Amino acid sequence: MYTVAQLIGGVWGAGGAGGELVVHDPADGAPVSAVPVATADEVGKAVEAAREVAPEWAATAPAARAAALHRAADAVEAVTGELAEAVTAEMGKPLADARGGVEAGVATLRQYAELGPLRGGRSLLGAADAIDLMVPQPRGVVAVITPWNDPVAVSCGLLGAALVTGNVVLYKPSERTPATGWLLARALDGVLPAGVLSLLTGGGAVGAALAGGDVDVVAHVGSTATGRSIAEAAARSGAKALLENGGSDPLIVDAGVDPAWAAEQAALGAFANAGQICVAVERIYVHRDVAGDFVDALVGRAGALRTGPGRDPATQLGPLVDRRHRDHVHAQVTAAVAGGARIRVGGAVPDGPGAFYPATVVTDCRHEMALVREETFGPVAPVVVVDSFDEALRCAADSPYGLAATVLTGSMSHAQRAWRELPAGTVKVNAVFGGAPGGAAHPRRGSGQGFGYGPELLDEFTATKAVHLEPPAGGRW
Ligand code: NAD
Repeated sequence: MYTVAQLIGGVWGAGGAGGELVVHDPADGAPVSAVPVATADEVGKAVEAAREVAPEWAATAPAARAAALHRAADAVEAVTGELAEAVTAEMGKPLADARGGVEAGVATLRQYAELGPLRGGRSLLGAADAIDLMVPQPRGVVAVITPWNDPVAVSCGLLGAALVTGNVVLYKPSERTPATGWLLARALDGVLPAGVLSLLTGGGAVGAALAGGDVDVVAHVGSTATGRSIAEAAARSGAKALLENGGSDPLIVDAGVDPAWAAEQAALGAFANAGQICVAVERIYVHRDVAGDFVDALVGRAGALRTGPGRDPATQLGPLVDRRHRDHVHAQVTAAVAGGARIRVGGAVPDGPGAFYPATVVTDCRHEMALVREETFGPVAPVVVVDSFDEALRCAADSPYGLAATVLTGSMSHAQRAWRELPAGTVKVNAVFGGAPGGAAHPRRGSGQGFGYGPELLDEFTATKAVHLEPPAGGRW
């Protein structure tokens, strides 16, 4: 059992007067983590303490900040196994995936350590005796509020970019993976100057207190509903809101593609991490010509996945994060069936402990169904049959979200139309999990605002100052 502690003003074990929450293993229901809950007052004090430390960290040379981040990457790498075990224990994903997430996080920290000191501003060509500069500066105090589905990789992106650009950070990991956040913060704090990083734990109320506090940036990765309430809080306080939120990513399967290969891609996109990936395949528009063979192959793949606890190396499909989330997933499937959809495999809540849910293929879906339009975030593949590529593109584009989209096609003109016309931050052709090298993504609509990851994230965490210098009267300095 993990006993989590907060880090406030450089002091471990501070606060927690808001009570205690307990996280349970989604594979068997056993208690995993005991976690203090911060009060609003503690959040306020943590923000004040961070503000005191901010000028010194902002004035630290970029190369020294980068060196600290390299040490941080080493420190996280050294506890890879421990972190991966905590991820699996708290949110259930197979251990090898959890390890992959930690390794991705380490790589991201190193990426930002390399990129940080290479950034610069611009000098402008003004009057001959004047000097005009555009200088990026740290924004100050950054709240980093993160989800549970890939907790180390996601957190390392925001933490690394915010820290290397000279901001101090108040980190609030998900209440579903708090021990993971605590282990990560311990590794980072061990190599950073005291007070540069704080850790606050608890649920949405703690995040809300932070988002409404005296911070300069609220960086949130999580659901669209939370992102919207953070945007409201930030509008009131004047803080910048950086939001990487939910999605309902379409997969278009064009006529003429190999249905077995398309099913392999669809299964990977819909069932990896039990569908709990922001860019998971959430809805499939398949051309009628290939629909029958495609669905048969997808059903075969879904049925063949080995389900079990994440700590069992043979497991391919772990449990969902908890039963509350399973209820949400199952309710969407049940509503689709009530509306005329048909379950081809899965779709039933199993007996026994934990929050398991089978890989599920639902056919006869219509574009209007909530299972298709909303984010399910579970191992569910809803299939809509379409009669043309035009119809598929139209449905794919018609969404309250705009995170990412995938098109499987052998037609170059269809590929070109897809990337030009789909209103999403990332469009992938013939690979469900491709993306920008370095991770840059710019979500649209309900999926958020501002760059998540990539070199552009460094720009999000700085403010550019325009500087104009000219000599005093007489023309001489
Ligand atoms: P969530 O928004 O419920 O929680 C995320 C964090 O926000 C948690 O730390 C939580 O305590 C905090 N929070 C909750 N209510 C808050 C409030 N009112 N004010 C401030 N903070 C609050 O999301 P989740 O369930 O943890 O994560 C799943 C969601 O995250 C999915 O929608 C998924 O698509 C999304 N996600 C997006 C990306 C991306 O890059 N776009 C990546 C991973 C996950």
